[in-house]
Amino acid sequence: MANPDVAPDVAIIGAGIVGASVAYALARRGAHVVVLEAGTPGSGTSGTSFAWLNSVRKEPEHYHRLNAAGMAAYRELASELGDDLGYHTGGSLEWAEGAEDTRELRERVARLASRGYAVEWTSRERALAMEPPLQIPRTVDDVVFYSADGWLDAPRAVRCLLAAARARGADVRASTPVRALRRRNDRVDAIALADGDVAAPSVVVCVGPATAAFLAPLDTTIPVGRLPGLLAVTSRPSSPLGRVVHAPGIHLRPDASGGLLLGATDVDGVVADGESSTPLLEVAKPLLERAGRVFAPARDVRLVDARVGVRPMPADGHTIAGRIPGLTNAWVVATHSGVTLGALLGRLVADEVLGKPPSPELEAFRPGRFASR
Ligand SMILES: Cc1cc2nc3c(=O)[nH]c(=O)nc-3n(C[C@H](O)[C@H](O)[C@H](O)COP(=O)(O)OP(=O)(O)OC[C@H]3O[C@@H](n4cnc5c(N)ncnc54)[C@H](O)[C@@H]3O)c2cc1C
Repeated sequence: MANPDVAPDVAIIGAGIVGASVAYALARRGAHVVVLEAGTPGSGTSGTSFAWLNSVRKEPEHYHRLNAAGMAAYRELASELGDDLGYHTGGSLEWAEGAEDTRELRERVARLASRGYAVEWTSRERALAMEPPLQIPRTVDDVVFYSADGWLDAPRAVRCLLAAARARGADVRASTPVRALRRRNDRVDAIALADGDVAAPSVVVCVGPATAAFLAPLDTTIPVGRLPGLLAVTSRPSSPLGRVVHAPGIHLRPDASGGLLLGATDVDGVVADGESSTPLLEVAKPLLERAGRVFAPARDVRLVDARVGVRPMPADGHTIAGRIPGLTNAWVVATHSGVTLGALLGRLVADEVLGKPPSPELEAFRPGRFASR
């Protein structure tokens, strides 16, 4: 159990899926960890994520491979932590309509198959046998099945990872915003809190969409943008949905509440500028209408929640993970697809913080790549 009198080896700032994964991996390796979280663990982007575990549109190939390894890391984590992790298997289904989108899907599936990704074309009939209430247009002959995809109940996973870290001695402090990192030469030598400083030999910054602002005073370039997205939750449908589905104009999956979780890329655009004064449930209405077109039980549900989440979006779209340039004892992890990647990044970064050689898997994703731009 946590013992606040023991000096920590590593301080982790931020307890979303990334920080919680780093904390668990470090604690599992025997490090004494303190986690400093401004609000409630999991209440940042990780609590407002579609949380589809996949590597379907992750380009180029090295980024695809990182995400595929991220999916595999959850299978291992689930065998360590059991059902409390909130890891859901079942694969995902996708179909396209229209010549251009169908061609794009065919090319993508061929590319993914050539890389060994778990993807196959299946007949409309078989897809309907998997999810009987789906309304797949008769003009669609084939549907794509990605059998290794899944989804994560991310807030539950954060709780589970932190509980497992605590059981190994981690000190997890909620409502503890870090005001600043104090730098002396090439080291962070103190972490400023509202009620005094904390010191730790190593620091890992996992603050998601707050990364750029948080690190700006250290005079280092870590360009992470903020990209909002809207998701809506429905009441419980009369027949459940079993897996993630991507149909034209809408994506949906089972929500942990028993309802459906709905999203659409073009509806994200409505909330992106942050200017709209329209209530979110109103903005989300088209999602419900579109869901009803592809999943019959969605015609009889209502929207019970609509949430905006802010994606941490590195300037080139790809993961940033590694030592902060100019500092010998501080690391940063900031990424889109952070749910898919959390378990893997936690493990790889924990190894490096504890002195193992730099991971070749992270070579293309180092923060230093932005320094010369
Ligand atoms: C609409 C939407 C859909 C998405 N869909 C997917 C998907 O299908 N699959 C996928 O893999 N990813 C998806 N993502 C992306 C994914 O959710 C994020 O990449 C991931 O949640 C980021 O996790 P994080 O731990 O880095 O950040 P967060 O979850 O935001 O955690 C950062 C934490 O740091 C804390 N913090 C911030 N500043 C401080 C401070 N100064 N002191 C202490 N604590 C601080 C915050 O309170 C927060 O709890 C989606 C995101 C959105 C918004």
